[in-house]
Amino acid sequence: MTMKLKNYINGQWVETKNPEYIEVINPADGQPLWSVPSGSKKDILIAAEAAHKAWPEWRNTPAVKRISYLFKMKQILEDHTEEIAEICTKESGKTFAESKAEMVRALENIEVACGIPNLLQSDFSEDIATGVDEFSIRQPLGVGACIAPFNFPIMIPFWFMPYAIACGNTYIVKPSEKVPATMQRIFELFKDINLPAGVLNMVHGGKDTVDAILEHPFIPAISFVGSTNVARYIYQTGVSFGKRIQAQGGAKNPVVVMPDADIDTTVRIIADSAFGCAGQRCLAASIVFTVGDAGKLFTSKIVEAARVKKTGNGMNKETEMGPVISKESKERIEKLIQNGINEGARLLLDGRTINVQGGENGYFIGPTILGNVESESEIFKTEVFGPVLCIMNADTLEDAISLINKSRYGNSACIFTHSGAAARKFRHDVMAGNIGVNIGIAAPMAFFPFSGWKESFFGDLHGQTSHAVEFYTQTKVVIERWHEEWIRKF
Ligand code: NAD
Repeated sequence: MTMKLKNYINGQWVETKNPEYIEVINPADGQPLWSVPSGSKKDILIAAEAAHKAWPEWRNTPAVKRISYLFKMKQILEDHTEEIAEICTKESGKTFAESKAEMVRALENIEVACGIPNLLQSDFSEDIATGVDEFSIRQPLGVGACIAPFNFPIMIPFWFMPYAIACGNTYIVKPSEKVPATMQRIFELFKDINLPAGVLNMVHGGKDTVDAILEHPFIPAISFVGSTNVARYIYQTGVSFGKRIQAQGGAKNPVVVMPDADIDTTVRIIADSAFGCAGQRCLAASIVFTVGDAGKLFTSKIVEAARVKKTGNGMNKETEMGPVISKESKERIEKLIQNGINEGARLLLDGRTINVQGGENGYFIGPTILGNVESESEIFKTEVFGPVLCIMNADTLEDAISLINKSRYGNSACIFTHSGAAARKFRHDVMAGNIGVNIGIAAPMAFFPFSGWKESFFGDLHGQTSHAVEFYTQTKVVIERWHEEWIRKF
C-alpha cells in the first residue's frame, strides 16, 4: 500500500475512522501514487464539531485580523508554487504550466478576499422617521464546506474558502478523491499561518463524506463544483435540509466562428481552449459553429493545429497536453467518439490511436476532431470532458444562437468576429453565464462572480467576490430609535 493520506481536523493530522482507502493513480503512467481515505460519516462529525467550536471566537476576531492570515496564506502559496504544481501534475495529469496557472487563479481569489473589510460594509439610512435610523449588517453563518472536482485541485476551493473564512465562518474542504494530495500539501504548508485550531479543516472521501456534509446540522452553507447530475443531487438534498447551496455543474461550451473572424488567431485560441487540460475544463470549447463560409478554412487549420499538439507526461517541458484523469474516463471518451462516428459525424482527427513514449500504461487520448456533427446526436449533446472538438456549420448567426440556446448547459459561449454588431447580438441573446468575445476560455477574474446558467449551475449566488461574500453571510437589519428628548440631554 502507498502512503496513506490523513485528514486535517482541529489543527491536527488525524487518520480517518474508516480503514478503507482508495489508491490514487498517476494518469500519465498508470502507477499508484498514494492512498486516500474512502471517507466516513464519522470524519465529518468530528470536523464539523471542531469547526463549530472554533466559530464563536473566529467570528469575533476583527475582519482586519482575519485577513492578516490570508496575507500569510497568499505568501506561502506563492513561495511553494512549483512544489504544489508538481503534485498537482502528478495526480491530475495536466501539464506543469497548467498546474502553475491554476495557482495564479487561487491567489487572485485570496487577494480579493483580503478586501473583506470593504466587501462586508453595508447600508445605513439616517432618520427614516424622526430619531430613527436603519442599517444592515452582514454576519457569518457558521461552518461552511466546499466539495471539489478533480480537474482544478488547487484553484476551485479558493473560489469559496478565502471568502468564507474572511467573513468569519469556519470551514471544511473536501477535495476530490481523485486528486487529494495537492490540497493535502497545501494544508501542510498552512501550518505556518498559525490559524486558530478548527478554523480550517480538510476531510478526504467520496459519497459518504459528501452525504455527511449535506446532512450535518452544523454546516448551513455548501459550495459544490462537479458534474451536473451530482450538482443537482447536492442542491436538492442540501435544500431539503434547509441549507444554502451553490452547485456548479457540467458544461458543453459552444464557440461561434464568424466569416469575418481572424482565422489564424481564432484557430490558435480555440485549439488551446479545446485541448488545454486535455479538454477537462468546465469552460473548454467543445462545439464550434462555423457560420457561412468560415467553415472550410477554419476546419483545415484547426485540424493542423491540433495534429501538432504534443501529448505526453505533463512533467515534460515540451508537453502541451497531458492524459485524461482515469482509465474509465478514457474508455468513456473513446466510446463517445465512436458513437459520434456511428451517428454520422466525420472523423477529421483521431486521437484514440496515439502512442506516447513511456506512457504506454497512461490514459492518453490525442486531440480529436469530428466534423458534420448532427444537432440530435449524442456527441453534440453530451459533455465529453476530454480532448474532443466537434464542428458544425450554421448558415447564419441566428441559427447558431438558436442551437446554442437549446442546450441543457449554459456555462459559457464564445464568438470570434470583427463585427461589433454580431458580438453585441451574441452577448445579448445567448443563454449562458460566461460570454467570450474573441476569447477562448471566458473565465471570470476573481473580482467577478463565476457565473453559469441552466444545468451548469444550481443555486442563486455564484463563487468568487461579492457573490461569495453574500453566500457566506446573512443580513441582519437593525432599526434604532433615539428620542429627541434623550438626545437633548447631551
Ligand atoms: P464529480 O461530480 O464526479 O465529483 C465532484 C465531487 O463530488 C467530488 O468531490 C466527488 O467526491 C463528489 N461526488 C461524486 N459523486 C458523488 C455522488 N454520487 N454523491 C455525492 N458526491 C459525489 O465531478 P468530477 O468528475 O470530479 O469533475 C468533473 C466535472 O466537474 C465536469 O462535469 C465539469 O464540467 C465539472 N466542473 C464544473 C465547473 C464549473 O464551474 N461549472 C468547474 C470545474 C468542473
